Formats: sequence, C-alpha cells, structure tokens
Amino acid sequence: MRADKFILASLALTAGLASATELQQTVLTDLPSLNSLYLHLHQNPELSYQEKHTSARLAKEMRALGFEVSENVGGFGVVGLLKNGKGPTVMLRADMDALPITEQTGKSYASTVTVQDKSGNTVGVMHGCGHDIHMTSLIGTAKQLADRREQWQGTLMLVAQPAEEVGGGAKAMLAQGLFTQFAKPDHVLGLHVSAAIPAGKVAVAPGYAMANVDSVDVIVKGKGGHGAYPHTTVDPVVLASRIVLALQTITAREISPLEPSVITVGSIHGGSKHNIISNEVKLQLTLRSYNPEVRDQQIAKIKRLSAGIAMSAGLTEAFFPEVIVHESESIPSTYNDPALAGHVEQAFVSELGAENVEKGQPVMAGEDFGLYGRTEENVPITLFWLGGVEPNRYAAAMKSGSQLPSLHSSKFAPDYPLAIETGVRAMTSGALHLFNQD
Ligand SMILES: [Zn+2]
Ligand SMILES: [Zn+2]
Repeated sequence: MRADKFILASLALTAGLASATELQQTVLTDLPSLNSLYLHLHQNPELSYQEKHTSARLAKEMRALGFEVSENVGGFGVVGLLKNGKGPTVMLRADMDALPITEQTGKSYASTVTVQDKSGNTVGVMHGCGHDIHMTSLIGTAKQLADRREQWQGTLMLVAQPAEEVGGGAKAMLAQGLFTQFAKPDHVLGLHVSAAIPAGKVAVAPGYAMANVDSVDVIVKGKGGHGAYPHTTVDPVVLASRIVLALQTITAREISPLEPSVITVGSIHGGSKHNIISNEVKLQLTLRSYNPEVRDQQIAKIKRLSAGIAMSAGLTEAFFPEVIVHESESIPSTYNDPALAGHVEQAFVSELGAENVEKGQPVMAGEDFGLYGRTEENVPITLFWLGGVEPNRYAAAMKSGSQLPSLHSSKFAPDYPLAIETGVRAMTSGALHLFNQD
C-alpha cells in the first residue's frame, strides 16, 4: 500500500505537479474503481424519470460506505446520510439523468443504449451533460469523507437527484420533504462539468451563476382563407412574423441594459399549403434572466406586444394571441451564496493550487439546483464548474480557434479520469472546509 502511494505520488510529480497533496494521493488510489464506476454509468444511461438502475447502483455504493440510505425520494431520488457527531450538515448533490442523444464520440466505451421516443423512433441515450461525472465524483467524495471521519464532525448528506434535464427532480425531492424528513442542510454544494474549461481546473462564480428558465407558447390567431384573397383574411403568418421581430425589442429597448435577458423563438409553426392562409401560428419561446423581476417583465411585455400587434391588424380581444407560460417547467436562477462560494473557493485554492481555480462566468443556461436555495429554509448553495476538456485538446482549440463540443453535444467526451480526480478533490476539500470553518 505504501509503495503504491509512493508510486502514485511520483506519477503526480512527473505529471508536473509541485507535490501531490495527501488527499490527491488517496484519490489516486481510489481512481481505478471510480473509473470503472464511471464507465458503468456512462454505458448504462437512463433518461429523466427513468433512473431506476442508476439510482439503485448509487444507493448500493452509499450503503457499502456506511451511509443510511433512503430510495425513491421524489421519483428515483436517493438520500444518503452519514452522521458523525455534532456539527453542521453539508449536502452534496449530483444529478443522474441522461439525454436522448446518439453518442458520436467514437470512444470505445461509447453508449450504445437506445429507446423509442414518443413518435416511435429509435433514439440513442447518452450522458451528454456529464451527469455520470457528477455521480462518480459524489461517490468518490463520499468514500474520502467516510474514510476521514476523524477530520470532521457533523452530518454528511448525499443527494442523488433524478430528472434534472426536465427541471422536475429537485422540485419533486423538495416536495417529498428533503429538508424536513431527512436533514436541513447548512450548506449545499454541487458541481457541473464544463465543456469550456480544461480538466484539472475548477471555476466558481459567486452570485447569479445560472439563469431563470421559462418555456412560453404564443398562439397567434388569424382569420384564414384563400391565399389569393388576403384582403378577406387576417393572416396569422404575417402577424407572427411581426411579433417575432417585435419581441427582439423587449431586451433591446425595454429591459435595463444592466439586467441580462434572453428571449429566443425556438420554434414557429403554421399553415399547411402554399395558397392557404391559416387560422393559427404557434411560437415556442425560451426566456432567460437572472432577476425574478426581469422574468415577470419579460412575460408581461410579451403579452402586451403581441396583443397590440393583433389589435393593429383589426382583431378583437377574443382573437388576441394566447400567451401560455409552462409554470410547471419553470426553473429559477441559481444564486451562489457569495460567502459560501468564497469559502469553497479558498478550499479549492489550497487543495488544487491557485492556478487551477478560475473565476467562473455566469451563463444563461438553467439548472434546477437553484431550487435548493429557494425554499423557506433559505439555505446557502453553491454550484461550481468542473473542467472537463482534455487539456491538450483544450490548448489546441485555443490555438486554432476551433469550437469544442458543448454540453448536450453527441461529441462531448470529457477527460473523465482527470475530471473525476479533480471533482473528488474539490468536493472533499470543500466539504472538509465547511465542516471545520467555525
Ligand atoms: Zn444538461
Ligand atoms: Zn447537466
């Protein structure tokens, strides 16, 4: 064992590190079994709300480490508790679901799993958002903290969350009493793989880190007829086109330039044939913001502008566009508590070195992680970025200016051994810091 550790430390040294930390040495010892857990999860991906085998595997791993485990919390959610005396409760969260993407990474370990979609087409299933890295890092961290019980006191709470990609899992786990039936955390920590940061590094963005996400339909109504007699109709294709252009002025002209806002029309459908003016056109929008007030403004302005355009075409109120906000799919922004983010950043710097800890950039993508910080318990949360790109590949892309595959791309293939090693070191050092800060 000692000899192994010596070899690993020497490996770390030859890899260019000044000196391997004690934590790094033990993580490197665990890495072969973590890599095989990763490969198992990667090759057996399950879609949102279907994480049956994934959650069972995680529950098994947690039990083997001595955690009290509860399954089927808010769907396939798993909660693991390790009580280790008096002290704070630190919650670590990983999400479990994969995406309907056919993997095209060309890797020998690529997923070959397929499912039938709603229309009966066969689609591939892939961990295209790196949730397999998140789960493996969670288990690796659990092992480290279970092995180091003499270094901390309190309760370690592991949360394996289902259905992140559809914005349903955190909501369901909280609704089933995550903070009331299990434990009320004092700090919540999560990580997300980044497809824009090299593996070996992490990034922390204090404050708003991820956006409010809303899905909105606008049903534009008209009065259909023959394409040769437009004057006898109210053409909803023309109305919808005017609405799409007018929507661009909301962010540009009506919302403070100091407040981030995105309104994207992702889908427009209407009509059936060249010479028929239809009765209806359907728009599907995604709205992004940080500030909840901006989110409310976006929705109110979409209603006002689209009604105004319908009115200017001579339509009466019964024919004004219908604006439907899919409230059940809405996700609030993720606000990283600045004090908590500062604490974990400090821990990351001492474990990984300042050169491996970047200032995170806020993004307009969404994550239901933000919900853990928006309950009445008002728990401070922080989600940090874990670099995923193979370092040489990253350097080459920076040099040539070529695009790296993004998250949700069929070609996204993280440098999993280095990302997992770094994820476990970051999570473990962050948790130890939080347990010992008072
Ligand atoms: Zn995703
Ligand atoms: Zn994700």
